[in-house]
Amino acid sequence: MPATDTTLPIAVIGAGFSGTMAAIQLLSALPQSRPVLLCERAEAFGRGLAYATPAPAHLLNLRAANMSAFPDRPHHFEAWLAGQTEEGVQRTPAGTFAPRGLYGRYLAELLQRAITAGGVPRLHLVNDAVTDLEPAGAGYILHTEGGPVHRVAGAVLAAGNLAGPGAPHSHYRVDPWQLEQFGRLHPHLPVLIVGTGLTMVDTVASLRAHGFSGRIVAVSRRGLLPRVHAPVEARPAPNLTTQDLASLSVLLGRIRREVAAADAAGSDWRGVLDGLRPITDLIWRSLPPAERARFLRHLRPFWDVHRHRTAPPAARTIADEIARGSLEVLAGRIRTIRDAEAQALVTLRPRGAGEDRHLAVQCILDATGIGLVSETPDPLLRRLMARGLVRPGPFGLGLDAGPDYRALGPRGGRLWTLGPLLRGVLWECIAVPDIRNQAVEVAALVAADLDRAEAA
Ligand SMILES: Cc1cc2nc3c(=O)[nH]c(=O)nc-3n(C[C@H](O)[C@H](O)[C@H](O)COP(=O)(O)OP(=O)(O)OC[C@H]3O[C@@H](n4cnc5c(N)ncnc54)[C@H](O)[C@@H]3O)c2cc1C
Repeated sequence: MPATDTTLPIAVIGAGFSGTMAAIQLLSALPQSRPVLLCERAEAFGRGLAYATPAPAHLLNLRAANMSAFPDRPHHFEAWLAGQTEEGVQRTPAGTFAPRGLYGRYLAELLQRAITAGGVPRLHLVNDAVTDLEPAGAGYILHTEGGPVHRVAGAVLAAGNLAGPGAPHSHYRVDPWQLEQFGRLHPHLPVLIVGTGLTMVDTVASLRAHGFSGRIVAVSRRGLLPRVHAPVEARPAPNLTTQDLASLSVLLGRIRREVAAADAAGSDWRGVLDGLRPITDLIWRSLPPAERARFLRHLRPFWDVHRHRTAPPAARTIADEIARGSLEVLAGRIRTIRDAEAQALVTLRPRGAGEDRHLAVQCILDATGIGLVSETPDPLLRRLMARGLVRPGPFGLGLDAGPDYRALGPRGGRLWTLGPLLRGVLWECIAVPDIRNQAVEVAALVAADLDRAEAA
């Protein structure tokens, strides 16, 4: 890479957890002369999709003990939380679970401190959508929706979770994070949620907070609900051999034996899964591609519900709703949706059933989660792909990147990425304990790359 002007900023695109922490870590890793430009299209910085919610019932899915923003200060969030008087923090035998909005405040405070720290401000906020990175010399001209452009030495793409393709197609489809846009919900017609994972759990809480007292039907291919956290310690990661990693069935057999051993020792599967966390990336990268594809086809729903667990109060709410009959969780698939007056007519085929089931619902909430790069309507990603600066990651999940987090594409450049966009490359990269490490590593790699360029 050619040399670069030592005063040009590094841009960070997206100010959710990934971008906020990448920017904070870059301020430490880069020389004082190099500013950081943090760009966010939403109103608030330091929130992202996960921590923008004001609803107290939307709890963190991880214990407060695992949510520090800094890998070298594991109790940082717990200590911050202890100083807060806000209601809604749930202390359970399985750990403390804070509202996600409160976590957003923690991040916003960290960002504010980073902006005001030191003498000359080095962290600049751009409240606009980035629409393009136009290669210019060794860096880019960063274009924004509002019009202003910025010369930057390089960029870190922290655009987060990709939105789905907008399915299922219906006039009555509603974004679960923007329920208020639907207006009044009537109690006499049910509401359909597509997906039965953590977003469904949040959506049920949002619907009730919104005043909806009617019936909710949630459907997914297997109808699996996320498991609940319990007071279990992580077990040491098993010492996996090359043979264990040669095939999914051998690996599964090995993990089942670990679970049996945990049960015998008075622990349970949670300790085994939590113990796998530090080596999940390694497992993912070691499995042959055909075995990774098999995992995505057959095991992913089971992995997701065991790995991404709910806080006990949220799980209790869902169990109560099911027991009362106000929430029905179905395994099956949607065959057709026909929009009619004031309702959508949905035909479902329940799993294992020989006949369809028909439902008239007033709205359909898509809680299926993350979309594929090939289907993304995101203008920035589409332009970067067209320019050859990025390309889809393995299995179309997120973006392709090297072990140094540098985005890979036919053209390449001084562009790095982190967080959920690395899903296909790393698999275990979407939660705070993983992303906080990535932020430190990316910052160090960006600084080293610029150092090398300056020395050249
Ligand atoms: C509902 C939900 C709950 C979660 N709960 C937890 C939890 O409790 N604990 C946990 O560890 N993890 C949780 N996660 C996982 C979550 O993915 C990570 O914790 C983390 O928030 C990911 O942050 P991010 O910055 O990568 O992505 P995002 O939060 O998606 O943020 C990306 C940001 O980039 C901005 N952006 C995108 N494109 C552009 C552009 N072109 N220009 C400008 N800005 C742009 C977006 O507006 C957004 O603010 C949750 C995820 C979700 C979706």
